[in-house]
Amino acid sequence: MARAQIEIDLSAIAANVRKVINETKVDVCAVVKADAYGHGLVSIAQVATDAGAKWLGVALLEEAITLRTHGLSIPIIAWLTPLTEDFDSALRHDIDLGVSSIALLEKVMAAGERTGITPRIHVEVDTGMTRGGVLNEWPVFLKKVSAATLSEKVELVGFFSHFARADEPQELANEMQLKKFTNLLSELKATGVTPKYLHLANSAAALSNPNATFDFVRLGIAMYGLSPDVKTMGSSKELGLIPAMTLRAKLHLVKQVPAGAAVGYGGSAITTVETKVGVVAMGYADGIPRNADNSTGVFFNGDRAAILGRVSMDQFVVDLGLNSKAITGDEVIVFGAGNVGEYTVDDWASASATINYEIVTRIASRVPRIYNR
Ligand SMILES: *Cc1c(COP(=O)(O)O)cnc(C)c1O
Repeated sequence: MARAQIEIDLSAIAANVRKVINETKVDVCAVVKADAYGHGLVSIAQVATDAGAKWLGVALLEEAITLRTHGLSIPIIAWLTPLTEDFDSALRHDIDLGVSSIALLEKVMAAGERTGITPRIHVEVDTGMTRGGVLNEWPVFLKKVSAATLSEKVELVGFFSHFARADEPQELANEMQLKKFTNLLSELKATGVTPKYLHLANSAAALSNPNATFDFVRLGIAMYGLSPDVKTMGSSKELGLIPAMTLRAKLHLVKQVPAGAAVGYGGSAITTVETKVGVVAMGYADGIPRNADNSTGVFFNGDRAAILGRVSMDQFVVDLGLNSKAITGDEVIVFGAGNVGEYTVDDWASASATINYEIVTRIASRVPRIYNR
């Protein structure tokens, strides 16, 4: 190992996919946007497919095309394409497109006419999140999409929406979104067209709401072995998920410092006793949150060593304790599944006032990914 590396346990990804297929009894769309939440787009897509995922979901067209050029041939949905996107290319690569506006529908249909390829679309409706999805345009959109489907200018592959609060299963908002989803679907069906696949659930809904699973679930965070929300839904372990990502780093330097030493920029931490500090060769340029507090740190040789002072761009300092056996060049675990006592992604998230999603997706591309089976 050089300075730092991420290790991805591919068998954990496979186990998480299989678990959700077994428990929901529906198909899984493996959500691999954002470089598979930092885990590596193509490798994760491949292992998820091998484990039984029948769909791949991404935000951007370029992510979808990368999957195709690496030989992945199952259906891929891209749901965040700007109007200026190269839709001809999307159709030539057989990418399903999420459609959430009249303008986008028209662009996609124009590409269909130019290429002679019938666009495969998934209509996205806004059922209460007020982010993506058709809302005020619905009456007009409904007529247009129905006419386009009946005249075979598009293939109506899917009908979908997204939950805002699925990680709070008790919230009435979920029930209301579900109701709105089925109501809008009825309106669509009343025009004489029926989408082949309905999909609404993200990880949180897939794990908690059997009424929302429909034809497939769009599985993101849980596939990576992380809980959608530790507080409301329980930890990875409680959910039976296996975290796939371990982050290791080298101690660039270990040295003994006296009591009263001011550590890092701003001298925000001052040692209270003589101790050994370790300089970890990673910083915020690698995705280590600058605002992480000392409730997290690294794991070395059976012990946790808390962060000391502020995280810098390429390095941060930990308190190893005076009796530590660590020496310059030793390897530490920044986070892992938590099986041996190391800090977890969730520990880092709570120490940085963020969520586990952000911790894993923000790890920079300059940190190499290593894959274990
Ligand atoms: C990211 C995303 C998902 C996956 O959400 P998780 O909470 O990670 O399971 C599902 N659907 C859409 C539309 C998304 O953008």
